[in-house]
Amino acid sequence: MSGLYIAGAGASGMMAAIAAARSGAHPVIIAGRTAPGKKILMTGNGRCNFTNLRMKKECYHSAWPDGPMKVLRSFGSRDTIAFFREMGMLSCERDGYVYPRSMQASSVREVLLGEIRKLKIQMIEEDPLKAAALSEDGGFLLTLVSGKTLSADRLIMCTGGMAAPATGSDGSGLEILKTLGIKIIPTVPALTGLLSEDPCCSVWHGVRTHGRVTVCDRSGKPHSDTGELQLMKNGISGIPVFQVSRHTAYVLKDRPAAEAIVDFMPEEDADLRKILDRKDLTAAEALHGAFPIKLAEVFLKRLGVRPDTAVSQADPKKIMNMIHSFRLTVRAVRNYEEAQVTAGGVDLRSVDLGTMESRNIPGLYFAGEILDADGICGGYNLQWAFSTGYTAGVSAASYMES
Ligand SMILES: Cc1cc2nc3c(=O)[nH]c(=O)nc-3n(C[C@H](O)[C@H](O)[C@H](O)COP(=O)(O)OP(=O)(O)OC[C@H]3O[C@@H](n4cnc5c(N)ncnc54)[C@H](O)[C@@H]3O)c2cc1C
Repeated sequence: MSGLYIAGAGASGMMAAIAAARSGAHPVIIAGRTAPGKKILMTGNGRCNFTNLRMKKECYHSAWPDGPMKVLRSFGSRDTIAFFREMGMLSCERDGYVYPRSMQASSVREVLLGEIRKLKIQMIEEDPLKAAALSEDGGFLLTLVSGKTLSADRLIMCTGGMAAPATGSDGSGLEILKTLGIKIIPTVPALTGLLSEDPCCSVWHGVRTHGRVTVCDRSGKPHSDTGELQLMKNGISGIPVFQVSRHTAYVLKDRPAAEAIVDFMPEEDADLRKILDRKDLTAAEALHGAFPIKLAEVFLKRLGVRPDTAVSQADPKKIMNMIHSFRLTVRAVRNYEEAQVTAGGVDLRSVDLGTMESRNIPGLYFAGEILDADGICGGYNLQWAFSTGYTAGVSAASYMES
C-alpha cells in the first residue's frame, strides 16, 4: 500500500495526521514502541502547558534563530487553542501560559486520539520504523522493526528527539534521517539540571531559594534566568537552570568543564548591606536572616570565615561578592532520561518552513522535536510540535491531492 505515512505518534505526529486527514488524505501513522501520546501525559507536571500566548523569537533556540517564528506565525498559539476547542477541549490561561481547563494532560491526549478515531486514521502500533530508503519512483521504501515493508509516496518524520526515551523517543528517527543524508545539528539534552562535584553541593542539598543563574554559550555570550533554584547534592536544578542548560550542554561538548554563576540576591540588596555592616551580629547571624541556614554555611565555608566571627570583621564586601557571583564548576548536564527536550536535530535551513518539506528530498517532511528548534519552558515545545505538525500534515496532503 503506498500513500502518506507519518512516523511517530507524539504531539507532532498526531497533529500532522489530523491535519492531513482533514485535508483529504488518508494518512497512516507508524507509532513507536510506546502508547501514542505517552509523553504528553508527563508534560507540565501532568497538567500540560500546551502553548503560550507570549510568542517571540527569543523563546526558541536554533542554529537558524529566525527559523522557528516563520512556522509559528502561520499556525500559532491562538490557532492551537482554537484547534483544541473545536475538538471539544477548553483551555485556561495564566500569565500567558495555556493549559487544558481540566488541568489534566490526559485531556490533550484524549481529544487528539478521539479525533484520530473519528477521522478513521489507521495506526500501526508497536512496530516502529527501522529504515527508510529512496525508491526509484520518487517515493520511499519503509522497513518496520518486524521486517514488514511499506511503500510510501510521502513520509512525515515525527519521531521526536532523545529526551525522556522511556516515552519512545530514542533517537532512532534521527539515525534513519542520517542514512538519507539529512543534515543534523548535533544534539544535546536541554531543559535539564546542571551537575557539579563542588563540595558545597553536599552542604546545600535540599535547599530551594530565589536566585539568578548565568552561563555563557560557546561564543562567550551570557544567558541568565531568575526564579526558584533547587540546590541538589550533585548540582543545581529548577526552571531558571533548565532555561540556560542547553548553552552549558553545548559548551561541554568541547570542554571538560563549564561555569555557572549564581546571584543569590538578584533583587535590591541595600537592606542586606546594612545588616552586614552591623557591629552586634556574628557572620552566621547576619546571613541567617536572609538565606537558608545551609546556604549561609556554604558562603562562610567558601570564604573561610568562622560563623562566630563578627560580621563587620569578616569583610562584608567579600561576602556580598560571593552572594552575587557564586561560581559553580559544572562537569555535565543531566542526561536525556531527565531532560525535557533535545536541542539540535534536522537543520532548519534544509527545510522549506512554509511546508516543512525537505529541500533536498522531495516528499520527505519533518515535524516536532526532531527538528533543530528547542523552546524555553512555558508551552513553547508543544506549540512547536503542533505548528510544525499542522503545516507538514496540510502540505503533504495537498501534494497527495494534486
Ligand atoms: C517531563 C517533560 C515535561 C514537559 N513539559 C512540557 C510542557 O509543559 N510544555 C511544553 O510545551 N513541552 C513540554 N515538554 C516537551 C514536549 O513534551 C515535547 O517537546 C513534545 O512532546 C515533542 O513532541 P514530538 O511529537 O515532536 O515528539 P515526542 O513526543 O517525543 O513523540 C515522538 C513519538 O515518536 C515515536 N517514535 C520514536 N522513534 C520511532 C520510530 N523509529 N518509529 C515510529 N515511531 C517512533 C515515539 O514512540 C513517540 O511516540 C515536556 C517534556 C518532558 C519530557
